[in-house]
Amino acid sequence: MACSKVRKIDRECRVFNEQWTRDYFFVPWKDRAICIICKENVSVFKEYNLRRHHETRHKEYASLKGAARDDKVRRLKGGLAAQQDALLRQSRANLAAVRASYKAANLLAIHGKPFTDGEFGKAMMLAVSEEVCPEKTDTFRGVSLSAQSMTRRIEEMGGKRP
Ligand SMILES: [Zn+2]
Repeated sequence: MACSKVRKIDRECRVFNEQWTRDYFFVPWKDRAICIICKENVSVFKEYNLRRHHETRHKEYASLKGAARDDKVRRLKGGLAAQQDALLRQSRANLAAVRASYKAANLLAIHGKPFTDGEFGKAMMLAVSEEVCPEKTDTFRGVSLSAQSMTRRIEEMGGKRP
């Protein structure tokens, strides 16, 4: 596919060709392609960019052919997937911490409590967690309940307050 017309580049070249995984060790990820060897990413799916990256950075893979190449691709893809799962878990945990912070701010607002009560609530939550589920204490510690956070959240939710 020759992306000769500039206006069409974005649309036409964003289709990832499955063959590029075996040829250049790239996998598609959102609107990018990731090198499964060095984890670097390329923003537009253009065969030339992927081939150049692979041939200049990973010369040592050129001799890898047939089943050995397939096996290498499989193992590297597995490693990348595991890494992405870990990142996804991390971002979900961060999201939960943010949601928890909003819920706490909402509770303070509903009950007409001072914003500084968020800090007291956190101290209590950590004390309980240390006894009941110490393995989760660090997660709870990551929930921002400072007076500043509570003020900001309540202001942001301004329109939704009861
Ligand atoms: Zn690479």
